Order: sequence, then C-alpha cells, then structure tokens
Amino acid sequence: MHVLSDDKRMPSQLTIKRPVEIEGVGLHTAVPARLKLLPAPADTGIVFRRVDLDNFEIEAHVRNVARVSYATSLMKRGVLLSTTEHLLAALYSCGVDNVYAEIDALELPILDGSSQPFIDLLNQAGLRQLRRRRRYLRVIKPLELSEGDRRIGIYPADEFRVHCFVDYQHQAIGPQTIEMTVDRESFSNELAPARTFGFVKDFLGLQEMGLIRGGSLANAIVLDDTSVLNGPLRFPDEFGRHKALDLIGDLALVGRPLQALIVAHRAGHALHTQLVTRLLEDHSLWTETTEHRAPAMPSFSSSISVTASSQS
Ligand SMILES: [Zn+2]
Repeated sequence: MHVLSDDKRMPSQLTIKRPVEIEGVGLHTAVPARLKLLPAPADTGIVFRRVDLDNFEIEAHVRNVARVSYATSLMKRGVLLSTTEHLLAALYSCGVDNVYAEIDALELPILDGSSQPFIDLLNQAGLRQLRRRRRYLRVIKPLELSEGDRRIGIYPADEFRVHCFVDYQHQAIGPQTIEMTVDRESFSNELAPARTFGFVKDFLGLQEMGLIRGGSLANAIVLDDTSVLNGPLRFPDEFGRHKALDLIGDLALVGRPLQALIVAHRAGHALHTQLVTRLLEDHSLWTETTEHRAPAMPSFSSSISVTASSQS
C-alpha cells in the first residue's frame, strides 16, 4: 500500500515499516553490540543513537566524521561510533531516507564483513513511503580531488552512479573495475555480499595495535603474499565490489540522495569523505530537486584485467 500516488518522477521519502534488530561483535573492538533499526519521520535522515549513553544522537552526516583510517568513524561532542559504512551503504542504496539506528556499543557489528546481513534486515523490516517528497542533491559542476596516484571525482549525471577502480598489485586481486547505477536491486545483487578483506602481513601488526581485535576468518577475506587463505570468493572481483560498497557507504554521509556519477580511482575512506565535505561546502556545484529522472545507462558492468589466483 502506498501512502502517496506512485509518481515515479517525484518519489516520496522512505523509512522502514517495522523495527528490526541484529547482534554481533565489532571488528576493531571485539565488543558485542546490538543494533536496532526503527522507523523515523520525514526529514529525520539516518540518525544513530548510542542507547548505552542516554540515547546520544549522532547524525550520519559528514560534519560528524572523525578519524578516518581502516573504517569510517563518526564522532560528535567526543562520542564515537565506528565502522558505520557497511550499514550506511545498505540504507543509502535501498533509498532509506529516514531511520533511527540504535546501538549499545561504540562500534557496529561486523557480522560477515559485508552488507548482506543489513540487506536481509531491511528486507525483514520492509519499506514504507512517507508523505514528503525526497530531495535529491543534483550535481551540476564537476569536482575532482587527488592525493598522489589516488583520485576521486564527482560529475553531473541523471542518476546515482559509481565507477570504482582498484589495483592492489597482488596476484590474487589485480586491477578491477566496477561501474553501476546504484539502486536497491543492483546493490543487493552485485555489491551487498562482497566482504571486506585484509592481508596477513598487516593483520599481525593491526592486532598488536588493537585495531582489529574482532577480526577473524569469519568476517573478512584474508590474503597472504600470493593467495586467498579462506576461499572461495563470492565473486572473482569481490575486492573491487567491496571497495565500491565502501565508497557508497561514505557517500551516504552527504545525508541526501545523490544524482551524480562518482569516479574513484584507488581512492579510500579519507578521499571519499573529503569529496563529500568539499561538495557540500560549495553550493555552486549542485542544486536541489525533487525530480527523479529515468535511468539511461546500463545498470552494471565489471571487469578484471588479471585472472584471479586459482590457489584460493
Ligand atoms: Zn568495508
């Protein structure tokens, strides 16, 4: 049942139909956490609540981005929340404009290292239209940033589209390119199952530094110098797909649905969030619109330039 007449050119904002919850440990802290998603009214946005800290609210917005290294963390008035990007990627791709995300720890559960458990959770919750039009941020002028050989750019486009290139100089990975129009269906099918990954040589150092206390073979793809240790992969180019997922999770910090093409070339969390900050600061780069244009481009393509290692 739709609350508004179903005008596809002027879509309504969405929230979830009913509360849902999931439990797991954090990747960095290994602390058990319970995440609960609740319906929220129009124009709320995605708002986290630390229920262990008197329901302290942290909006999923780039103004609240904290330290950005292995994962994106949010921080507001000294209250931290880590590893938000896999949930945000799922919410943003599914067009969930408004939701309260209650969490009783300082880090979201890592679960299997992908966005799949969050997509399952949203399917369980169902989506509901609200009586308010969605307000898109439509990019009208390009913006490009770079840092050495890492680059990211955002360009005018009729829909939300990402182009993501990674090249890890590793024989089990190789150059991988993902290009797609992002919506609930394409994200659920092509990106959501792609897991985070890490290298054994980094793993021990990170564990010593206490950065990945919750890391295990169950919540990340782990690679040594030549191959994948815990195959099989879910996709031959699972690495590139996960990086596209992370990019979308960071773009969610715009706080509004985007009409733009984002091209990321070996970029990472830091460059993603810098792009969002600079975009929002410069009002000459975008306009606001309630109109959703018809998709024109093919919805998905991926390419791997080097065959993945058969040792996995
Ligand atoms: Zn990730």
